[in-house]
Amino acid sequence: MSSLYFHIPFCKQACHYCDFHFSTVQKTYRPVMDAMLAEMDLQANFLADKKLTSVYFGGGTPSLLPDVDLGNFIEKAHRNFEVQADAEITLEANPDDLTADKLRFYKNIGINRLSIGTQSFFDDELELMNRSHHAQQAISAVKRAQDVGLENITIDLIFGMPKSTLAKWNENLKTAMALQVPHFSAYSLTIEPKTALHKMVENGQVILPTEEESLAQYRALCAAAKTNGFAHYELSNYGKPGFESRHNTSYWNGTPYLGIGPSAHSFNGEIRQWNVANNAAYAKNIGTKNTWFEKENIAEKDRFNEFVMTGLRTAKGISLQTIETRFGAQIADQLLADAQSKLECGKLALHKNTLTIPEEYWMLSDGIIADLFWVE
Ligand code: SF4
Repeated sequence: MSSLYFHIPFCKQACHYCDFHFSTVQKTYRPVMDAMLAEMDLQANFLADKKLTSVYFGGGTPSLLPDVDLGNFIEKAHRNFEVQADAEITLEANPDDLTADKLRFYKNIGINRLSIGTQSFFDDELELMNRSHHAQQAISAVKRAQDVGLENITIDLIFGMPKSTLAKWNENLKTAMALQVPHFSAYSLTIEPKTALHKMVENGQVILPTEEESLAQYRALCAAAKTNGFAHYELSNYGKPGFESRHNTSYWNGTPYLGIGPSAHSFNGEIRQWNVANNAAYAKNIGTKNTWFEKENIAEKDRFNEFVMTGLRTAKGISLQTIETRFGAQIADQLLADAQSKLECGKLALHKNTLTIPEEYWMLSDGIIADLFWVE
């Protein structure tokens, strides 16, 4: 089984916190679309198993795509691969793009999961982040999607925003829960270098909440998710039973995937590839059929570190038996020895031969996991 990812590298405007690859200039739009279709043909054999259990349109802003271009991608996915009848097909959308006509089109062409970038239900927070929508637009977009019969909806939320308080965050959670969506993702705001927000923080233009305040918001988030029947199945992801993201879960399981578009990554079990993060260079190089990506064979050590990193961010954790099978008994023993001090202080738990990080420590997971890495 495999997955397919499309990176749509265009946005209406630049959100102040975002460091994904995108452009607000549309002049390369047509060449990039043509190149992405061509890349699907050129890379069709990258995946040994052509059975797709998930297809994901991310970006960027896939909801900016005109119907005809989205339709072309879906059609070619069916032509080049075996998209399974029950495949999860997700499209990321900004609320201000979601008209009833567009939503009906999505449903008709087989999009069966919508990821709506709500982020906050306060206009002052949305404006501060330079989002292109207002809070009421987000609420209406979710309801419109539900009205056309798109039930598998996930929304995004950000906590630890400048100016946010626990009271405001609780209001955000209340609004999110009232929307009755079966899944949501909630991210702690991170200040990425080279973003507008990074400059604003450096200039003192915005003040971030303290670590304690962000932690209080995280705890409120976990409590609200539990009260409302969501399983916290991965660091940033919460789902009702049966609505966990299959696409993201396949990344965490090490399932092979092909990424199409500028900056997209691909992995086939042995090789990792990443496309050039430049729209013009991507479109130009696809035409020459050579250097639009770099690739590397993944070393055993990197494979182990990735397995530990992704696995320990999930509620399922990592099985020591699986570690032994994949990497050998010596590596499994070493991992257990490295985990010992964290097991003693409760930052790791060992149950039925499986290592997990307890939910209250997930916010500290980067540091905990780094201590378990295989280093030479
Ligand atoms: S819409 Fe999404 S990808 Fe585009 S700038 Fe905003 S956060 Fe980044």
